[in-house]
Amino acid sequence: MKKILAAALTSAMIFSSVAAPFVSVSAASISSSDYPVAFKDALWFYDANKCGKDVAVDNVFSWRSACHTSDGSFVGQDLTGGFHDCGDHIKFGITNGYAASILGWSMYEFKDAYDGAGLTKKALSTLKYFTDFFMKCRVSATKYYYHVGAPSDHDYWGPPEKQPGDREKVYYVDASHPASDVCGEYSGALSLMYLNYKSVDSTYANKCLEMAKELYALGKNKGTCSADGFYTSSSGDDDMAWAAIWLYIIEKNDSYLNDINSLLSQPYTNWGICWNDMKIAASYVIGEATGQTKYKDAVAQNLTYWVNSIPRSPGGMRILSDWGTLRYSAAAAMLALLQYKQTKDESLKSFAKSQIDYILGANPANMSYMIGFGSKWPQHPHHRAAQGTMGWTDWKLPAKNTLTGALVGGPDASDVYTDQVDKYQASEVGIDYNAGLVAALAGMSKYYSNLPSVQPTNTSQPSPTATNTPVKVTSAFIREDVNKDRAVNMADVVALAVKFNRTTADAQYDANCDVNSDGSINMSDVMAIALKFNYTY
Ligand SMILES: [Zn+2]
Repeated sequence: MKKILAAALTSAMIFSSVAAPFVSVSAASISSSDYPVAFKDALWFYDANKCGKDVAVDNVFSWRSACHTSDGSFVGQDLTGGFHDCGDHIKFGITNGYAASILGWSMYEFKDAYDGAGLTKKALSTLKYFTDFFMKCRVSATKYYYHVGAPSDHDYWGPPEKQPGDREKVYYVDASHPASDVCGEYSGALSLMYLNYKSVDSTYANKCLEMAKELYALGKNKGTCSADGFYTSSSGDDDMAWAAIWLYIIEKNDSYLNDINSLLSQPYTNWGICWNDMKIAASYVIGEATGQTKYKDAVAQNLTYWVNSIPRSPGGMRILSDWGTLRYSAAAAMLALLQYKQTKDESLKSFAKSQIDYILGANPANMSYMIGFGSKWPQHPHHRAAQGTMGWTDWKLPAKNTLTGALVGGPDASDVYTDQVDKYQASEVGIDYNAGLVAALAGMSKYYSNLPSVQPTNTSQPSPTATNTPVKVTSAFIREDVNKDRAVNMADVVALAVKFNRTTADAQYDANCDVNSDGSINMSDVMAIALKFNYTY
């Protein structure tokens, strides 16, 4: 056995010295089996923005470890954890709440896609990293912190692990400091965690629900959050409607529906789903939960605008705003796939495909705007941890670390992308940007990729909880661990099966799938996995 393995390895090494063993597909031809790969990568991105003492636990990026480990100490509250916002390190309540809401919603709606792609465990552990942070922010039923970091955070260019000084700037919500937008987002995210997590750990799930109700009550005191002018939320009503419908779904109490009627009484706009506008997202959920036509009509009208009337680039990208354009088109693709789930209107499914394929490389620049996908992607994302240098001298050098899965803001209205770190309207990434993309890719994987039907991930074992002794993470993964979640199990067989007898532009993923290094992906790789089944490292 050892001899055969050695011979295979030797021939693989000779082969790779002659020619690259895997052929990249043309950037313009996204194949149906690319979506689960992109789905995995987009979800993994969140590991790059983790903050706190336990960053290295269950983290796919070897270049990330603990940071900002004294957050909150100056107010006597442990506010470590949560996620850095974009390419900076401030923790904003509104984007943490939005990202957790959208990711949780996508798992609620497309659970079979998460199971089929082998991503349920990773997604739940990512979601728990959000909700663990929300729990730490609780002082009492009537006081929650939601923001850590001063604007001067932006003066520092370097990895978060090396950022000096204490971050002596926090914001909280209480009776005198309303923030119904953040309360609504956190409440919705926690209700969704209750729904997604109750079969895993009912005690934790019930705690989420209790806090969801506390935050909803706190958010009834109207007002928008403080964020030093970076995220100026226009209203908290949309976010509170989002919170209300999830509590209604859980508790079936009509008082939530009465609240919604008043919260959503203003006319609709054509704006897309984003950190500042949850009205259409809430309306979708309300329409499906109650059947009320006015909410269903609002969603249909919004999508008609996005499919037919909104300005578009020559390459077909829909353009709502020139700052972070693709975050909106990704979120619109998510909504279209959710609507397709209900209506089976093929034009919505095609619209979603057009926007997601554009992001993944089917565009005039022939490049993927999700880093690490295909053969060409942005080299200068505005992201301190990925760029990896210290100080402003070298900040325009290409990123040292590959920020796999991150969606950049995107090109301009002429489909031209400016790959410069200082053009942050195009090159920055964000926990809010990726949320819509992950959700859309869950839907794309479900409807285009023929995912294997698998038993739901074993939910009797809780996902790894943060511990005080972080696991040492190295960059080396064993080959049998195809999906690189540090365990060899059925999820790796599933990840492998979607790649059977084909190659993609993702050389690293191809290399992983070719477990026995014989230059092709087939049944013999499944057998290689079987030899190491139930191995964790
Ligand atoms: Zn941090």
